[in-house]
Amino acid sequence: MITPWEISDIIDYKKTMENFGIKPINEIIKSIENPHHLMRRGIIFGHRDFERIVDAMKNKKKFAVVSGMMPSGRMHFGHKMIVDQLLYYQDYNAEIHIPIADLEAYSARGMDFETTKKLAVEEYITNYIALGLDPEKINVYLQSKYNKVKDLAFILSKRTNLSEMRAIYGFGGETNIGHLFAPLIQVADILHPQLEEDLKIRREIPVVVPVGIDQDPHIRLTRDIANRAKEYKFIPPSSTYHRFMTGLLGGKMSSSKPETAVFLTDDEKGVKKKIMSCKTGGRETLEEHKKLGGVPEECVVYELYAYHLIKDDKELLEIYETCKKGELTCGKCKKYCYEKIVEFLKDLHEKREVAKEIAHKIINL
Ligand code: SF4
Repeated sequence: MITPWEISDIIDYKKTMENFGIKPINEIIKSIENPHHLMRRGIIFGHRDFERIVDAMKNKKKFAVVSGMMPSGRMHFGHKMIVDQLLYYQDYNAEIHIPIADLEAYSARGMDFETTKKLAVEEYITNYIALGLDPEKINVYLQSKYNKVKDLAFILSKRTNLSEMRAIYGFGGETNIGHLFAPLIQVADILHPQLEEDLKIRREIPVVVPVGIDQDPHIRLTRDIANRAKEYKFIPPSSTYHRFMTGLLGGKMSSSKPETAVFLTDDEKGVKKKIMSCKTGGRETLEEHKKLGGVPEECVVYELYAYHLIKDDKELLEIYETCKKGELTCGKCKKYCYEKIVEFLKDLHEKREVAKEIAHKIINL
């Protein structure tokens, strides 16, 4: 069972897609005028009803994006992937809603509200803005402070029951009621853009939720509830699914294990150390590497290029091919990688100073 609170290291994406009816993104990629590089490269690999959003983008119709966050530690490159997707939708003038899941953090992770709020503002929202999100165009809110969402969650809770919640999330008898209710808040986060503030007037606006596969239980529950709550005539939300980044040492990437991730606030020395000692697809010896070629498919450095550092497909392909042929050595390749990261982080660091002030104003710290 895949749940948002616990995810195994190894995910069989293909099997998960088959089990839960997620469609491959490559089946519709040709109909997307300007697909995101994460889509072109199969990193965003699946979707539900994304055709609706493609149509909105193509015909300049309104659509909304909802991307919740539950702050847990420092923000790293794995988290950045979601901001890259929001920036893509921002270019299409999408409405962007960013709920801070403080109610869920409280009930599921035992985090107090003040800690969650501070972390969300100073680490996440600050970086979101520094990365390019327009603070004037985003709706960032704390779940605990947004009555529209809380009221909608309560109303929609009537459309599910304990058996369904158990079947989707695997809740047991020991689960606290707050945790049990938290997914309903997420359902309301996702559906609220389709209603005006009074929850009475309907807005004709499709919504897309870009997520990792661990969040699919929320999407399934939301779509089911949207269909059941006939009085609202909700459009079931669309979703896209991206792969998780591999940790620098080969396992899971985690905020609580600094050696597994490059953080957006790492300094030059730290980045160099992490990249120079990360897992690559290089061979045991230089001689072997030159003879047999590397394995970029199993290389964390290559993943960093593909996900974040190289937007030009031709340049990425050249790295792939020269690695495969053994012409590109890991030493040279890692050096190029950390130089690119350092350059990127230096620029981000400068932008973060201004962004932090704005983030504080948005949430009123
Ligand atoms: Fe990875 Fe680069 Fe080494 Fe190839 S050459 S295995 S892409 S570090």
